Amino acid sequence: MRNSVFLALIAGLTTAGPVVAHNEWGTFNPDFNDEAAPLLREMEKLNNSTMDEDKRYFYSRVLLWKPGQTLKGCFIGGTQSERRSIFNSAAKLLTDAKINIAIDFQSTDPFPDCKKNAQGLYTEEIRIAVGAGAPCCSARIGRNGMRKANLDEANIFLGGAPQGWQVWHEFIHALGFFHEHQKPDAPCRFDYAEVKRLWGWDEAKVKANFDRLNNDERDHRFSSGFDRKSIMDYYQTSPTMLVDGVKSPCYNPTPGTALTTTDLEGLRLAYPMSASPTSHTQRMTRVRAVVDLGGVSPGLRELMEME
Ligand SMILES: [Zn+2]
Repeated sequence: MRNSVFLALIAGLTTAGPVVAHNEWGTFNPDFNDEAAPLLREMEKLNNSTMDEDKRYFYSRVLLWKPGQTLKGCFIGGTQSERRSIFNSAAKLLTDAKINIAIDFQSTDPFPDCKKNAQGLYTEEIRIAVGAGAPCCSARIGRNGMRKANLDEANIFLGGAPQGWQVWHEFIHALGFFHEHQKPDAPCRFDYAEVKRLWGWDEAKVKANFDRLNNDERDHRFSSGFDRKSIMDYYQTSPTMLVDGVKSPCYNPTPGTALTTTDLEGLRLAYPMSASPTSHTQRMTRVRAVVDLGGVSPGLRELMEME
């Protein structure tokens, strides 16, 4: 079974560690969204410029992993018990979601350290920084974590003692997903000035984390509609951050702490059990023969060539 290593010991174990109250904005990803959002916008342009299904598939998967892929997982910092806690939450996500992607930690006793190669770069796809020395909570979006410039550190940051829903939110980013409130059809109207004031962010950071992504929904593998209870929302508990206040469809005084049906739908669209790695490779081969990467930005090109 592809994910047997991952699943071997999850049953019956509970997440340990003290409860950390989430702040008003819950889990967040400011720096990494700044970095990935331009790639997504470029991808969208490429996607809109062709009707060729193979090419559209290729562009839309730039940040996603290959369906059926087994990603190598490892840890940076933290104790074995802190690692176990993160592992248990992540394992629950993947087993409950029933998606066609696995993370192989190779050993669960002990949980392995990430290892740098001779060039000083990590080679594992899922590198989780944990423990007292690590920040929380953020993650690079999908394969963006494998760009060379990002290989000298973790791509998921879960320091301290994060709760299960925080672990899930960040892992879903690492699987290639942006925020729910940034979906093309999300109805949220944010008061950027208020968000700037509340959170102390500059304009660019607020935009990168709140602007809607104007993408073809199907080809970017979003789930349908807007889900106020998605685990990929920010925690819109403060009505002042929304132009429509408590009347906004995005106002959420009681944030969800579990995956919703639409969260699962999005994950399964991106990593369907029916997709085979072979057909993915065949599609990529067809696209490679005709796609011109000449006019693509260096960042996106690196990702596309990595595929
Ligand atoms: Zn986030």
